[in-house]
Amino acid sequence: MYDYDLLVVGSANADLVVGVERRPGAGETVLGSDLAVHPGGKGANQAVAAARLGARTALLARVGDDAHGRLLLDSLRAAGVDTAGVAVGGAPTGVALITVDPSGDNSIVVSPGANARLTPHDVRAAAGLLRASRVVSAQLEIPLETVTEVVRCLPPGSRFVLNPSPPRPLPEQILAACDPLIVNEHEARVLLAGTDADAGPGAGAGPGPGAGAGAGDTPEDWARALLARGPRSVVVTLGAEGALVASDEGIVRVPSVRVDAVDTTGAGDAFAAALASRLGAGATPAAAAAYAARVGALAVTRRGAQDSFPTSAEVEAM
Ligand code: ADP
Repeated sequence: MYDYDLLVVGSANADLVVGVERRPGAGETVLGSDLAVHPGGKGANQAVAAARLGARTALLARVGDDAHGRLLLDSLRAAGVDTAGVAVGGAPTGVALITVDPSGDNSIVVSPGANARLTPHDVRAAAGLLRASRVVSAQLEIPLETVTEVVRCLPPGSRFVLNPSPPRPLPEQILAACDPLIVNEHEARVLLAGTDADAGPGAGAGPGPGAGAGAGDTPEDWARALLARGPRSVVVTLGAEGALVASDEGIVRVPSVRVDAVDTTGAGDAFAAALASRLGAGATPAAAAAYAARVGALAVTRRGAQDSFPTSAEVEAM
């Protein structure tokens, strides 16, 4: 009775990548490698990942009326994503300017562009898409008020999945709708701290997310502390350690699949998309997470983001 297993509401960016020997200082110019342009943005990535797995997927997003916007629309359509909900114009397509040094470290400047113009009005105008989708997922590369409007407009019986990336404190109204809230360790830390701890050196170091939030220091403790903030369920992703699924019925560990990791870019997007689309196909949370762990593991065996996402046949063959 639903036309789509999954509607993704989120960002679409062109990733402009240049390799450099070292980063320029203030006022300095350095020469870099040839420019590589890749379709990206968490919304577009998750939509492509879900469609490649065979899920009936639509994207609600905004791109500019420019070459980057056309690149994104082409890659979405090639993967099988329904792009009727992708608005065009209003600002240039979002871009991520990425320099990569020889050690593989990235420096990134994001210009949100059209993503910042995906408004609550756009969500209301897409009421038909929302009604046609069993699961609606979002991330935080679009305005928070737009995500709030998604939650407000959710039709009865549909399910909301949030991957709060990049992380920031969330209003109760959004938290209460999440089923599940999907976080990695860093995102768990920021949500539990209740402050925008994304900035500053060392944000990714130190003790676990529970520190300072009155919780313990295991992923199970973080999951319980997050559940207490209101989500109906929580999934914590743990990189090579797999993931865990938590709800008021208990906590289940999802083992990881052992692989030779070459590039972890996009693993979180692949996992979130696989989890949301399996839920949209009617799987239980534990079964959906086990499937998503296989998808995440396959994604780390290949370079890039969208280029690394597997097909359902590749997951079956694993
Ligand atoms: P993020 O990219 O958001 O930090 P994670 O690194 O936790 O997310 O990865 C998401 C999921 O992908 C993990 O829960 C796991 O299932 C899978 N995964 C990630 N890295 C590996 C790895 N090295 N080996 C196997 N599976 C992995």
